[in-house]
Amino acid sequence: MRLILLGAPGAGKGTQAEMLTELFHIPIISTGNMFRAHLSQGTELGIKAKTYMDEGKLVPDELTIEIVKDRIVKDDCKNGIIFDGFPRTIAQAQALDDLLKELDITLDKVIDVEVPDEEIVTRMSGRTVCSGCGTPYHNQFKIEKVKGSCDNCNSELVQRDDDKEETVKKRLKIYHEQTQPLIDYYNAQGKLVEIDGIGSVSSINLRVKKALGVE
Ligand SMILES: [Zn+2]
Repeated sequence: MRLILLGAPGAGKGTQAEMLTELFHIPIISTGNMFRAHLSQGTELGIKAKTYMDEGKLVPDELTIEIVKDRIVKDDCKNGIIFDGFPRTIAQAQALDDLLKELDITLDKVIDVEVPDEEIVTRMSGRTVCSGCGTPYHNQFKIEKVKGSCDNCNSELVQRDDDKEETVKKRLKIYHEQTQPLIDYYNAQGKLVEIDGIGSVSSINLRVKKALGVE
């Protein structure tokens, strides 16, 4: 099973990726993880990537694809792959298609976990975290007993910058701008499956499995 997972930040894509990796015993391939692995091992590809990252630049597609290739030819990818957070652009998607063709690998499905923006904003902007012990709270799903202070240690609850409504909205805007072309691209290939990402983790997982024909 070779899959690509798409989904906005906060859509629960990562959770589904974890469940699929357990179900199929296939690895999750994310560029973040691969870059970190190359950097920590000080490989040639890692050193190249680092020069861009140090300058705050995006790693060029050709280099990213080289890193992807290096990863997907490894033994643990023989039975399948879950791409998470890659490809991000049409250029990357085309390069991935070329690479898969070269390796005689077929991409089975592209799963798009769909959650309306308003729902994501509610999920993310409602989060707070204890400034003392780090316990997470949510103004709808896990409410503290005394407003603004931690049930465990009474420390102040704070909102992470990443969870602020404006930040979430900005990230969603960028996500949609980047991802819509990919959705169209894979839809045209007949590989796109849209999954309703509202509901419990297990009910969403059931939808994913049905879409993959394993339930
Ligand atoms: Zn606390």
